[in-house]
Amino acid sequence: MHATHNLGYPRIGARRELKRAQEQYWRGDIDQSALRRVGADLRHRHWQAQADAGVDLVPVGDFAWYDQVLATTQMLGAVPERFLEHGAPDSLDTFFRMARGKSASGATVWPCELTKWFDTNYHYLVPEFTANTRLELNPDELLEQIAEARKLGVTPKPVILGPVTWLWLGKPAEDGFDHRSLLPRVLPLYQQLLARLAEAGVSWVQIDEPILATDLDEHWGTALREAYAALADAPVHRLVATYFAGLEDNLALAAELPVDGLHVDLARAPQQLDDVHRALPADRVLSAGIVDGRNIWRADPAPLLERLETVARARGERLWLAPSCSLLHVPVDKERESALEPAIKGALSFARQKLDELAVLRKALAEGRDAAGAEIEAAQAARQALADAPGVRNPDVRQRMEQISERDAQRGSPWAERARQQRERLRLPLIPTTTIGSFPQTTEIRRTRRDFKAGRISEADYNEAMRQEIAHAIREQEALDLDVLVHGEAERNDMVEYFGEHLAGFAFTEGGWVQSYGSRCVKPPVIYGDVSRPSPMTVEWSRYAQSLTERPVKGMLTGPLTILQWSFPRDDQPRAETCRQIALALRDEVVDLEQAGIAVIQVDEPALREGLPLRRSGHAAYLDWAVESFRIAVSGVRDDTQIHTHMCYSEFNDILAGIAALDADVITIEASRSDMELLDGFERFAYPNEVGPGVYDIHAPRVPTEEEMQDLLRAAARVIPAERLWANPDCGLKTRRWDEVRPALANLVAAAKGVRENIAA
Ligand code: GLN
Ligand code: ZN
Repeated sequence: MHATHNLGYPRIGARRELKRAQEQYWRGDIDQSALRRVGADLRHRHWQAQADAGVDLVPVGDFAWYDQVLATTQMLGAVPERFLEHGAPDSLDTFFRMARGKSASGATVWPCELTKWFDTNYHYLVPEFTANTRLELNPDELLEQIAEARKLGVTPKPVILGPVTWLWLGKPAEDGFDHRSLLPRVLPLYQQLLARLAEAGVSWVQIDEPILATDLDEHWGTALREAYAALADAPVHRLVATYFAGLEDNLALAAELPVDGLHVDLARAPQQLDDVHRALPADRVLSAGIVDGRNIWRADPAPLLERLETVARARGERLWLAPSCSLLHVPVDKERESALEPAIKGALSFARQKLDELAVLRKALAEGRDAAGAEIEAAQAARQALADAPGVRNPDVRQRMEQISERDAQRGSPWAERARQQRERLRLPLIPTTTIGSFPQTTEIRRTRRDFKAGRISEADYNEAMRQEIAHAIREQEALDLDVLVHGEAERNDMVEYFGEHLAGFAFTEGGWVQSYGSRCVKPPVIYGDVSRPSPMTVEWSRYAQSLTERPVKGMLTGPLTILQWSFPRDDQPRAETCRQIALALRDEVVDLEQAGIAVIQVDEPALREGLPLRRSGHAAYLDWAVESFRIAVSGVRDDTQIHTHMCYSEFNDILAGIAALDADVITIEASRSDMELLDGFERFAYPNEVGPGVYDIHAPRVPTEEEMQDLLRAAARVIPAERLWANPDCGLKTRRWDEVRPALANLVAAAKGVRENIAA
């Protein structure tokens, strides 16, 4: 028999219980013991669900408050100095302070940096390292959870983040420090930890080293060899887990580590199974990550079995079955959904269902496909029912896709000519000022939306309320003397959901929440069918906004890649194809906005970097289709219509060529946090078009001064000629309050005017 195990279960709870409890605790509405009770309940429920589904080894340690990387950081005692003044290194309040930057006394401390976890939309808290980083093992929480799981009667398999990936995810907090040099001090802690786990009766430990699926330089390779050599005598079985991509050139390294098992991702890299099987010594466990942990579709078991059968025979019980990665990235349980089309619901598989899929695969491997015939047929029938469902294949969309030509991804003229025509049409001053799109989402706006959704107010009343918000935003911006205005996005709940709701091919769950960071969860739309735009989505709002002012109002759309990336896409065609369908739908919207008299249109692509494959070998192909989709979306307009794009909070330097290839007339891009560091890259790359580097960090509640924004603009003007420079915030303002936004934008406009006059003089 093949053992089944799970790499991690979603911890937020089917009703987002963990979110609620944490937020209540932060507000002071519940005390710590009440919070801890909610955590324990969730763990029990999740272990029980996994055991009921027949999972042999149940993960323990996948539960974390806020973030599992931060939990590792605290378990290893690596709490940065600035948090130690306020509390004990191992206390829960210190933990939350590292995440949120607030101390119990109300004083603010600079929190740890938040960054994306590999190529997902989950964010982790970045460990900070110096030569003096304190390191001291405190495994009590993990050991307690193991005891809890035991009491419940399940076999616990602790899940820990590996020492090398933990270091790799961190950042030096002092110049020139190479944090890899901490490894010799970290390894004894892991030795102690494994010994403690053995004492606790643990047999198998899962040690996550996802960096084995990235391009590693030789130093990190050496670090991995050293680390696992140091742990070779540990008295527990070690399963090293990799995911999100294939091992490729790290295969030999991974297969030679002196451990007892290796987990590989066969959803992202199915072709690697035979190679891994051949490379991995026969006495090791090969854990096949066969069920896709990153998407929500029910698998067709037949091709998966096809893939597994030979290796299963050869390896016998040393082949284990598992989801490809932790199920953190999918919602908890589809059975809670009551409003989905039956054909869609039937074809879905959330975390709970994925474990049933594992059980079917195990049964078929152990007893033959016939023994699991009914389940296999049911899965196939469910997939077929969706394939046959209305809207999955739309002949008009298919035809249009076939007719796309290179011309469709090309503006009429090169940028210089477009810029000339746009200058003539728009007559903007030097260093024009603008914002990124959204204005504060006030409680009134949210209440109005809730009332409308619940049927408490009519559509006419809702529309009227939104028009008033737009009129207010326009008045504010005119008073501030901004040059290019926005309508403010009051009508948008979310920048992807809004468009999904207006496009064909999308479905929405009621409770399909996934943790994004801390207590923040997102509910990604499900793209199940061909995407098209039945009718205009934003045109009336933009037209109304433009009717109120002489100044240009920017149309505001979310780009094709971002819509794709922040949804669960269909798995029966390449992502590139789905992206192109979205691009065609947006193209119609862009053209309609132009027709409605909108002269400036922004198409946001904040997820462009996040979608970049982990392996450099995949970058070019990805950027090709992602860039082409953006260009299809925006290239239907005249030369004198100005196309903007916007990006934020990612590492841009390795995709500058892709960003330039978008050929947007203007890019507004987050830069203030890094003190315009970003611009070095733009200078080296000689970015050709216009740029608005953000000069106002909208994530901090403070109001930036005119002077500091002038300094940032001057720094920018040294790199980007003033004729190609814009002044704007880092990102949208929806999370801020008007009493912060108003003075900040007043300072921003004053700063731009100051620099402008200086240059003119
Ligand atoms: N236009 C969006 C806004 O202003 C952009 C948000 C984003 O970049 N994530 O909110
Ligand atoms: Zn942004």
